[in-house]
Amino acid sequence: MRQQVTGIQPPQTDLAAENQALRARLAYLLEQAERNHSIMTRHQAFDLEIVGASNFPELVSTIFRTLPVISELESVTLTLIDEDADIHTVMEKLGVDFAQFPDLLFAESIDELGFELEPRNLAAQAPRPLLCMYEAARHARHFPQAPQGLQSVALVPLLRNKRIIGSLNLGSVDPTRFTPSLGTDFIEHMASIIAICLENVISNEMLKYIGLTDSLTGVYNRRYIDRRLLEEIARARRQNYQISFMYIDIDHFKRVNDTVGHQGGDDVLREVAARIKAELRLSDALARFGGEEFVVLLIDADLESAAFVAERIRAGVAASLIELAQGLQVSITASIGVASLGQPEQDRPAEQVALELIAHADEALYQAKEGGRNRVIRYQPH
Ligand code: GH3
Ligand code: MG
Ligand code: MG
Repeated sequence: MRQQVTGIQPPQTDLAAENQALRARLAYLLEQAERNHSIMTRHQAFDLEIVGASNFPELVSTIFRTLPVISELESVTLTLIDEDADIHTVMEKLGVDFAQFPDLLFAESIDELGFELEPRNLAAQAPRPLLCMYEAARHARHFPQAPQGLQSVALVPLLRNKRIIGSLNLGSVDPTRFTPSLGTDFIEHMASIIAICLENVISNEMLKYIGLTDSLTGVYNRRYIDRRLLEEIARARRQNYQISFMYIDIDHFKRVNDTVGHQGGDDVLREVAARIKAELRLSDALARFGGEEFVVLLIDADLESAAFVAERIRAGVAASLIELAQGLQVSITASIGVASLGQPEQDRPAEQVALELIAHADEALYQAKEGGRNRVIRYQPH
């Protein structure tokens, strides 16, 4: 009898083994739970950090700096769809240095993102995240700086209102990290937050840009120059270099409007802006101050070199006829006044220094007009 009972009960050793296995299982689950909790906490901190980013470079650098660490990934890149290079152009105009972001990529259309989509009606489809083994031939362009030994990747669409704005590309040296069978809720959630933040900062930067540019010619406006001039005066004082300022006014522009009409006049203004721009360096700022008047702020240029650039601009504007619609052609000249900021006394307010610099260039421009137009005059202190 007794023997029978013992027969159906597990021996002590089995119980102990089972107990041990359960403990190990529990410890494993606890460890997983702790790990998940820690990942969640890190991701919540990441979400807060990117939501708080106030501009495009700040957002992008936060993503590239933080995401690889908290997600334990070897590579994180972003591709943005930028059909007409508007985002790139605006960010560049706002001073974003793209060399700092080698992992920020631009694509002209959705089919460059690497998702597997039906060829027809690309735009109407919301692609699913693509998780697979890394293949250089297919994925190298999404990971231009890929470290050696990338094994698995996830290309996650960035979606806003069902519209795809780009992709978040994650790369791991662990071949099991991204496999087609893995659930994608977590990375999709992460991508949706990144997409919202990207869209927000991009539209804020666009608004900033619109507020600082002239809608007719696309060059900066007066507000931009007023602001930039104050910054540059402060910097020039600290770093001890020269800045110069050019006032450019198209000659007899009223006549141009009279002959080719206001619309034709607008086209002339656009062409003149382009011709001026062609003579400038990236660090120079060109703005339309209103009407047919442009100004140029030259950084690290003394009066001599500014006058040299001005002469090139004058020659460039006058060089050839401007072709307008309906076969119309006009010949244009411009007068230019140039002034420089010598060694401004440190104690004078930058606002006063800025106004004076503009006034000096304006005075030289007046002399250029008086002297017969189509010429460059340097401001001489009297
Ligand atoms: P000057 O050689 O002395 O500079 O002669 P000007 O005719 O250029 O002189 P003024 O500054 O008096 O005339 C500027 C003209 O520019 C007057 C205005 O009709 C025209 N204008 C101002 N803004 C615009 C614009 O946005 N588009 C066009 N098409 N014309 C404009
Ligand atoms: Mg004028
Ligand atoms: Mg004029």
